[in-house]
Amino acid sequence: MNENKTNINWYPGHMAKTKRQIQEDLKLIDVVIELLDARIPRASQNPDIAEYVKNKKRLIVLNKADLANDQETEKWIAYFKQKGIKAIAVDANQGRGINQVEKIILDMMQDTIIENAAKGRIRKTIRVMILGIPNVGKSSFINRISKKTTMEVGNRPGVTRQKQWIRIGNQIELLDTPGVLWPKLGSDEVGLNLSFTGSIKDDVIDKEEVAFYLVKYLMNNYKEEFKAKYKFEESEISSPEGSQNYYLEIMELIGRKRGALISGGRVDNLKVSGIILDEFRSGKIGKITLEKVN
Ligand code: GDP
Repeated sequence: MNENKTNINWYPGHMAKTKRQIQEDLKLIDVVIELLDARIPRASQNPDIAEYVKNKKRLIVLNKADLANDQETEKWIAYFKQKGIKAIAVDANQGRGINQVEKIILDMMQDTIIENAAKGRIRKTIRVMILGIPNVGKSSFINRISKKTTMEVGNRPGVTRQKQWIRIGNQIELLDTPGVLWPKLGSDEVGLNLSFTGSIKDDVIDKEEVAFYLVKYLMNNYKEEFKAKYKFEESEISSPEGSQNYYLEIMELIGRKRGALISGGRVDNLKVSGIILDEFRSGKIGKITLEKVN
């Protein structure tokens, strides 16, 4: 499926079925909330999204904004605005930014509401659905916005599951099951960005390789933050700057500092890779955006 050098191969076989289900659900929907990862707004976007959102109002929600660089997030919001798409930043974990969603949806639908009223139609409920790739925070977002409303699940075998709607305010209903989209794993860069952020499960990637590329990226783009976090100086590295050994030496240095050793005093590469990836993903290296607008 892809010739990615990181050998990411996780494309699920049931994708056609999922796509059909999403298209079916969309028939009921007025507004699509497209959830993206604020650190990787390009890589976390589904390549077919335009097809899904045609004839719908669309709101882009840049989630995990707590982990992304604030200035870069602002630039992304401006970028989407320029394209005529409303975008906002949220942190679905802590709930920051979630409160504005209801008002924005009502604003987006204002014209339709007025049109309907002019035609003498009783205003119908605005129906909303979430779309996004795995791990982008769809469940967290739904939980946050529903303020822990209990969702009834009619999940008995042989019984068709009824659609469940979560009420937001008195005019909006959100479908409780988000549409799970898959990213296009077309390039090494996209595959790596999805791996760095944990959007691709670690059991299908080569952790050491992914950590190597993350160290390389961070040393080239967020050098000061990275050096400060792991408390080392470039003078401690003997390999030529930018060479493969240069980054491997940095990883080894971090392994020693963190005591990630195996018998004989050698560095446990897998362990140090895990440390770097975990700390990056939980924001401990800093608020880092991997994809910039330009
Ligand atoms: P889903 O697969 O799209 O439903 O994603 P989940 O809601 O299960 O979230 C995936 C992971 O990302 C979980 O560990 C969440 O706690 C975490 N997460 C979700 N939203 C945020 C956020 O805004 N900030 C941070 N730091 N973590 C988040």
